[in-house]
Formats: sequence, C-alpha cells, structure tokens
Amino acid sequence: MRTFEFTELVAQLGYTQYGAFFCGVTDRWPVTLYSASYGRFSVPVSLKECKDKLPAAKQEIKAMGGKLLTSGSNGSCLVIRFPKSKGLQGSFYTFVHHSLGTLTRLGIHPLDCCPVCRSGNCDVASFLQGSFRGTHRHCLQGKADAAATAAEENLQSGSYVTGILGAIIGMLVGTLPSLLTILLADSIYALLFALIPIGAYFGYKLFRGRMNKVALLVSILAAVFGVFLLNFELLVYYLINDYYFTFKEALGFLLEELADGGYWLSIAKDSLLAFFFAALGVLFAWRLISRTADSTAAEAQAALRRAVPIYDQTELCELEEDDDTLQEDHLL
Ligand SMILES: [Zn+2]
Repeated sequence: MRTFEFTELVAQLGYTQYGAFFCGVTDRWPVTLYSASYGRFSVPVSLKECKDKLPAAKQEIKAMGGKLLTSGSNGSCLVIRFPKSKGLQGSFYTFVHHSLGTLTRLGIHPLDCCPVCRSGNCDVASFLQGSFRGTHRHCLQGKADAAATAAEENLQSGSYVTGILGAIIGMLVGTLPSLLTILLADSIYALLFALIPIGAYFGYKLFRGRMNKVALLVSILAAVFGVFLLNFELLVYYLINDYYFTFKEALGFLLEELADGGYWLSIAKDSLLAFFFAALGVLFAWRLISRTADSTAAEAQAALRRAVPIYDQTELCELEEDDDTLQEDHLL
C-alpha cells in the first residue's frame, strides 16, 4: 500500500492518529490501522472464543486477496493484511468493510470487555493500555475524575523530602538486579540499568513525593548515583573476595579513598561505560519516569475526549427503544 492510498483510506474511514497508529470505529469494530509501510489493520477479539471460526474466516479473507493472522501482543487481536494490489477487490476502503462484514457474518465479534471495569456492553472505543478497544464512557469519566483528584491532592500534600527518601530506597532496590548479574553471571545487561531510574521513580511516587518534573530529575540523578554506588559495592565485594579484607576494613578503606579528590576522578573515568549504561537506562525508562500527576490526568482526559462511540446515533435510538419495550414487557 502506497502512502497516498493510506492517507486516502484514513480520510475515508475518518480515523484519528495515536502515535504510529490510526484508530476509529467501523461497522461497530474498534479498528487500529498501522502506518503505511505495513499495510494491515487489527481488531481486538477474544481468540479463545473465536478459535473454531478462524479457519473459515482465514479462507474467506484469503479469497479477497488479503490475509488473516492472529496476534497475542497488545491483548489478543486479529490482524488483517491488505491485498497486495487492489485488483478486483475495489478500494482498500471496501476491503475493510468486507473483511469486517465477513468476521461478523461468521460469528466473530469484537472483544467486549472493558479494561477498566472488566464487564461487557462497551459503548465507546478508546486507546487504553497500548491498544484501541471497547470500554465505557462512564469508566473513562471515572478514570479522568480520579486522576484529576489525585493530581490535586498530590499538589497539596506531596512532599519532596519523603519522595527523595523513597527514591533512594527505590534506587537501592533497582541496583540489585544489575549487581547480582555482574557478580553471579559475570555479565552486564544494559536493560537492567533501566531498573535503577524506574526503581527511584516508583520509590519517589510510593513515598508520596510531589509528582511534577522533580520526579524525573530525581530519577535521573538516582540513575547516575546508582551507577556510582554499584561501582562502590563491586569494589567492596572484590576487596573482600580477592584481597581478604573484612567488610569493615573494605568499607573503611574505600571511604578513606573517597575523601581523596583524585579517587573521584579515577572512579569517574572508570565509570564512563557505566554512565553510558545509566544514560541508556534513563532512555529506556523515559516514557515511564517522565510521567507527572498532571500528565496522567491529561492522558485520562484525552482518552475520554477522544473516545469514539461504537454505535451511531440512529442505532442508539433503536437500542433505547428496545430498552423501553423490555421495560414494558416487564410491566405486563
Ligand atoms: Zn467499564
């Protein structure tokens, strides 16, 4: 699929952009369209429930020139590849409608389980927890209200002192996996260094630190300090293990060395690689540690504002009428 065809398709479907995805509701299906080069879209389903209907669906989609795949990433979903060339299939727009129609006809339905309250009868679709799926407007509203209240409370009662204390504890916990892999497996895993700023961030949050940009700054400082500390801990370990120091002697020796300025320079030189790892760790964890109370509240607001109704207005009226008839039935 070429870029102009993709842009045309997005416009025809009236989807909105969420980072690398374009999402919207078509024929009551929450649809995620991948960027141009991939030429495919996905819909959330319960793979367990539609398992026996999949072979028939695969065949029909194949007959249309497309391909149906299952995926477990981002919750279970069906991925449908567009035909290589439009050929006899008309436009990609028609292909989307036809393939969704096929799924519905075969008895495959969109996943109807709200990620917030875990119940069914979803009335809107929104981008939550990394995927575009059905949810309830009132659940999104609840989430947005709760996040706004939490942000306000945090602003009033959050404390830098307890937060920094928590960050130090979190940082210590975060260095443990790196320390253990270096000691036990004799290897360094860059990804594990991300746990140092993440640990500090969660420590800061857990100890009711004020969740503004200071949380990010503290996490970055903790990442740098954590790497120094890791070096220090390793030195203590090697002094005890290789030079038969007692723990007290090793600690005393290193603390004495620390008082000497030259030691800091040498440790800084030694730590260049470690700093590189700390920077990588911060980079890996960036999305998480840059979250503030305000950004979380804004995100919840956006999920609510951008929610797409699953039913259109006329269908909603019909549903309400059905409800009335049901109630009348009860009365009778
Ligand atoms: Zn819900």
